[in-house]
Amino acid sequence: MKKKIAIIGAGIAGLTLANLLKKNSDYEFMLYEKQESLTLDEGYGIQLSTNSIKILNLIGFSNINYEKIFHPKGVDFYNIRNKKICDLDLKQFNTNNIKYTSLQKSTLIEFLKDDVYTQHLRFGKKIKEVSELKGKVLIKFEDNTNDLVDIVVGADGMFSNTRSFFEKKKNQPKFKKAIAIRTILKSKSELNIDEEKISIMMGNSCHIVIYPVNKNKELNLVCIVRDKKYDPDNIKSLLKKVIIQNTNLESLFKGDLKSLPLYFTPKILPSTNNKVFYIGDAFNGFLPTLAQGAGQSIESAYELFNLIEEDKADIQNIYFQERLKRVNLVKRRSNINFFAFHFSSSITQVIRNFFMKFLVKRKSFISSYLGTVYKKD
Ligand SMILES: Cc1cc2nc3c(=O)[nH]c(=O)nc-3n(C[C@H](O)[C@H](O)[C@H](O)COP(=O)(O)OP(=O)(O)OC[C@H]3O[C@@H](n4cnc5c(N)ncnc54)[C@H](O)[C@@H]3O)c2cc1C
Repeated sequence: MKKKIAIIGAGIAGLTLANLLKKNSDYEFMLYEKQESLTLDEGYGIQLSTNSIKILNLIGFSNINYEKIFHPKGVDFYNIRNKKICDLDLKQFNTNNIKYTSLQKSTLIEFLKDDVYTQHLRFGKKIKEVSELKGKVLIKFEDNTNDLVDIVVGADGMFSNTRSFFEKKKNQPKFKKAIAIRTILKSKSELNIDEEKISIMMGNSCHIVIYPVNKNKELNLVCIVRDKKYDPDNIKSLLKKVIIQNTNLESLFKGDLKSLPLYFTPKILPSTNNKVFYIGDAFNGFLPTLAQGAGQSIESAYELFNLIEEDKADIQNIYFQERLKRVNLVKRRSNINFFAFHFSSSITQVIRNFFMKFLVKRKSFISSYLGTVYKKD
C-alpha cells in the first residue's frame, strides 16, 4: 500500500517537500498549515545559492518568470562609511542553468504553492494530540479533524510545535541579542554601490546587506544590529546606532520598516520517533549571516524525499547523520560571519579587512569556505 505523509507547516521547507512528492513520486500526502492563508505580502528578499537552485530546478524553477528574479554577479564588501574593501565573484559557482539567485520570499512561495495548493494544502490546522495506532501515527487537529499517516514531517519553523508533541527534550531557540530591520528600496539608493551585486557594509556592532530582488530595480535591505533587548516600538532609536556611523545611511530607512529578533537553535537534536522527521528551521534555525536558512530548508526536504523514495531501512539515522554534518558546516560559517561582520575597534577592523582582501582572491580558501556550501553534490 502507498505510504501516507503529513507535512506540518507550509513554509519553504514543507512546500518544497510537497512539490518533490507531487512531481516525482506517487505518495499520498497533505500539508497542514496553521495560518488561514499563505503569507504572500511579506516582501522581504532571500538569496538562494546554487546548492538550492539545483534542487528547485527539479521542480520547474528554471521556468519561473525571469523578471521576478535576479542573478547577482558578486558580493562587494564595504566598511560602514561605504568605502570598498574587496569583492567576491559569485559567477564562479554558477553553471548554465544553475545560478546564484535573489528574489522576494513571496515570489518563491508563489512558485512553490502552485502545484499543491488545491489538492494538498489545508489551512487553519494545528495539532491537538498525537498517538500511535496500528504502527501509524494518528494526528488529531484542533478543529476536530484527524489523519492517520505513516510519516509525519515537522516543517513548522524554528519554534516547531510538532517537536513539543513528539520530543521530551526541549530545544528552545535562543535570542542572539541582535535584531534584523528590513525594507525594500524602490528607487536607486544614494550610496555608491553596484546595484547588480550584493553589497555588505560592515560597521560597529551592525552590518547592512543590500541586493536586487528582481529586474524592476527593487533592492532588499537588511540591517542587523546587536542589542540586548528587542523592542519593536523602538526601532528608530536602535537605528541611531547605525546612522551615527554614517549619516548618509539615514535615507535608507525612510520607507516601511519591518523588524524581527534573531534567534538560533542551540542544539541539534535527533527525532526520537522513527516515523517523525524535522526539516528546515524545525531541524535547525541558522543565523542569516551566510544566507543559507531557506537553502538548507530546501536541501533538507530533498534529502528526506530521496530517503523516503529509496525506502531504505534506518532512514532516521541516515537522515540525521547527513543533516548534522551539513548543518554543522553551515552553522560554523554563519557564526564566523556574524562575529567578523561586527568588529567594534578600528584596529580589529583593519586586520579583518586585510585578511578579507587576501582570502577573497585565494581560490583554495573560497572553495573550502563557500564552495563546500554552494556546491553540494
Ligand atoms: C532577516 C532574515 C534574512 C534571511 N535571509 C535569508 C536568505 O537570504 N537566504 C536564505 O536562504 N534564508 C534566509 N533567511 C532564512 C529563511 O527565511 C528561513 O530559514 C526559512 O524561511 C525557513 O523555512 P521553513 O519552511 O523551515 O520555516 P518557516 O518559514 O518558519 O515556515 C514554517 C511554516 O509552518 C507554519 N506553522 C508554524 N507552526 C505551525 C503549527 N503548529 N501547525 C501548522 N503549521 C505551523 C508557519 O505558519 C509557516 O508557514 C533569512 C531569515 C531572516 C530572519
